[in-house]
Amino acid sequence: MGMFDSFLDVVECPHCKEKGEVEFQTKALGCMMRKFRLDEKVKLIDLVLKEADINDAIASCPKCEHHIKGTIWIYDGKFNGMKDIRLWEMRS
Ligand SMILES: [Zn+2]
Repeated sequence: MGMFDSFLDVVECPHCKEKGEVEFQTKALGCMMRKFRLDEKVKLIDLVLKEADINDAIASCPKCEHHIKGTIWIYDGKFNGMKDIRLWEMRS
């Protein structure tokens, strides 16, 4: 999907129920190929995001490879984790 930023969190796959670290990708933050971990400060150039929900970040389960979607939860200027993990049914 070209350029993006990614957020890493341990989540449970809604398809195979495997728990593991998954990399979610989003194009919403300027696509600077940054990789954020839990509690990391999230900045846009020189602006710190205080509170935000970034919808529809996409990933695939490392075990079953099913496509999943989630919401990036930013709280108090930091990446607070992924929420609303759900299956992403792609149309072919
Ligand atoms: Zn899975």
